[in-house]
Amino acid sequence: MEREPLSYLGGYSEAVLERVRGWIARDELGAYLAERYTVPDRVLSNRELYDAAQELKRRHLRSSPPLSKVVFDPKLQVIENALGLHSSVSRVHGGRLVAKREIRIARLFERVPEEFLRMILVHELAHLREPDHDRAFYALCRHMEPDYEQYEFDLRLSLIQRDLERRRAGGPAPD
Ligand SMILES: [Zn+2]
Repeated sequence: MEREPLSYLGGYSEAVLERVRGWIARDELGAYLAERYTVPDRVLSNRELYDAAQELKRRHLRSSPPLSKVVFDPKLQVIENALGLHSSVSRVHGGRLVAKREIRIARLFERVPEEFLRMILVHELAHLREPDHDRAFYALCRHMEPDYEQYEFDLRLSLIQRDLERRRAGGPAPD
């Protein structure tokens, strides 16, 4: 079944959705995104992703427990309200219970503008402290990236645009 393009914008107001419908109808999304963001010409490695996450954490969340793993996960699908996946896995290690904090990011994000990647990492890192998508969570995201909300919105627009382009090209159903 095909995804309804605006399903990426669940939670946004009807006024916003109406505006986006207009952009889609006039085919303006692609130009809007191209004007503001540059898609890198290569994919990012897991190592680079891990380093970028560590750098953000070192700068803003120094006191939070260390990250054990940050990877692109080919099995992860982009679903509503979940850009990535953060988990706290408890394992018994040498007779002690050790919490391992992992961040997994859908592989389709391995080649996105750096602003979007930073936004996704900020989102997942903020969950180390704030489990829910509440005011405290978004305040922490804005603290780490002042333009967080704009980037999250534009990332969602880029997912819409990606589906529209695939559909137009007669490609496989978007995941
Ligand atoms: Zn979240």
